[in-house]
Amino acid sequence: FRFPQQPQIILLKEGTDTSQGRAQVVSNISACTAVADTVRTTLGPRGMDKLIHDDKGTTISNDGATIMRLLDIVHPAAKILVDIAKSQDSEVGDGTTTVVLLAAEFMKEAKPYVEDGVHCHNIIRSYRSAGNMAIERVKELAVSIEGKSLEEKKSLLAKCAATTLSSKLISGEKEFFASMVVDAVLAIGHDDRLNLIGIKKVPGGTMRDSFLVNGVAFKKTFSYAGFEQQPKKFLNPKILLLNIELELKSEKENAEIRLSDPLQYQSIVDAEWNIIYDKLDKCVQSGAKIVLSRLAIGDLATQYFADRDIFCAGRVTEEDLQRLSSATGGTVQTSVNNVIDEVLGTCEIFEEKQVGNERFNIFSGCPSGQTATIVLRGGADQFIEEAERSLHDAIMIVRRAVRNSTVVPGGGAIDMEISKHLRLHARSIAGKSQVFVNSFAKALEVIPRQLCDNAGFDATDVLNKLRQKHAADGGANYGVDINTGGIADSFANFVWEPAVVKINAINAATEAACLILSVDETVKNPKSESAQGDAAAMGGRGGGGMRGRGGRGMRRR
Ligand code: ADP
Ligand code: MG
Repeated sequence: FRFPQQPQIILLKEGTDTSQGRAQVVSNISACTAVADTVRTTLGPRGMDKLIHDDKGTTISNDGATIMRLLDIVHPAAKILVDIAKSQDSEVGDGTTTVVLLAAEFMKEAKPYVEDGVHCHNIIRSYRSAGNMAIERVKELAVSIEGKSLEEKKSLLAKCAATTLSSKLISGEKEFFASMVVDAVLAIGHDDRLNLIGIKKVPGGTMRDSFLVNGVAFKKTFSYAGFEQQPKKFLNPKILLLNIELELKSEKENAEIRLSDPLQYQSIVDAEWNIIYDKLDKCVQSGAKIVLSRLAIGDLATQYFADRDIFCAGRVTEEDLQRLSSATGGTVQTSVNNVIDEVLGTCEIFEEKQVGNERFNIFSGCPSGQTATIVLRGGADQFIEEAERSLHDAIMIVRRAVRNSTVVPGGGAIDMEISKHLRLHARSIAGKSQVFVNSFAKALEVIPRQLCDNAGFDATDVLNKLRQKHAADGGANYGVDINTGGIADSFANFVWEPAVVKINAINAATEAACLILSVDETVKNPKSESAQGDAAAMGGRGGGGMRGRGGRGMRRR
């Protein structure tokens, strides 16, 4: 009697590619380092921009999140860096390059230990506690700008915005834009909705021609004959916001009417005219001087309003109409029956103005005051696009600072200070953890080092000076001086960053590093790979796109 041969255990489908163990951790770390290397040189005021060319066109950017998104990274581990850059962008709006650099540096510091056979969980545990200590330290060092007068606050916020803008393409005009951003943010007060600040781009002119409207502005919509006769300026007009069509509809496509007597035909035509005239009458009777609609306002209506000295615009975008509604206090109507005074909005000045080659409808001095529009001018399209992204960063920063109102010194000062703090703490630890906390502390120095490298300074020299300064009393605020290549008191020079940017960056970077260190196996299923390929080819349509996304999400966890 012989036992049947032991069956071979088949766990994974044929063709499945697995890699595991220490080698896998090391290779993941290398991939992340490679990704960080691509954005490394964009950090700081002397950072370089990247030109990314893909099927959708050319983008020039200095923004970490934008670059990472456009790079279209496929390595599953390196994708985590893309995710943290994205989340940093949506959470705080700045510090996207910082977070990627920090995460990669944390991993790079851990790499020799992993190669030497240290168990990853020892490193992870130390990193987590070091990360928490670092965040505590940032909170301790943060300086509040609360309790200052409005003027003082404004100038402090403008300095914050200027720091953000100083690393961007529009840095030449940073003071100009910084004060514009601060005015815009203070205008919307504590409202959470970001879309209350509109940014309109008009190519042409110089950056200095950009201006801020404390209210709403949008490009003149398509208009019919008769429009020229309408008045183009009002003081304190009543504004009617509509979501209906004011157009004579010829219903011959939509309806079928059978007539037995040809004479009846005229009555049908008359009925159509009566309906539209009735609508128009009601608009006029409401007392509104400006009629805006999300849908079309036809030639008949345009002429009708022109005869009665009323301004009208049709096909206003949904977004602009919403902003008009919150700015002017009007409510968007879906019917012209019973338009009472309460639903009409108002503003101090309405004007149609020429901006570059475009005509703009501008509503300023709105009663609720809770909207602002920045009209951005400048040369090339790519330039304006990048300017918009930069302003977005600055707006986010000022909003955060208004809400949290604590700042820390930038230019690597805060990073050096935390690093020193952690090194001191490490000395009190007995055991292996000491080494890992030290590595974490060392990794934080990547920020000032990179700032120096990007500006062409001798990083080793500057870092030595910084370490010495921070070790002494009263040197906590010293960072890289981007103008001279030495060191300077960042706080005194108003190189400030909101504390939340740093806190969020350290937190996210630590988490990402720990996550990648804890992954020691990647399983690549050949089937799902090709399914993803199909989905991409289909342009991510419907179920295919969903499947692709689900697959990626699964593998990360
Ligand atoms: P991120 O995408 O991380 O915000 P940036 O390119 O905006 O990257 O660079 C931010 C870094 O540059 C911060 O560490 C900030 O402190 C530093 N920085 C900004 N302005 C200055 C300056 N004038 N002098 C020195 N460092 C600066
Ligand atoms: Mg920045």
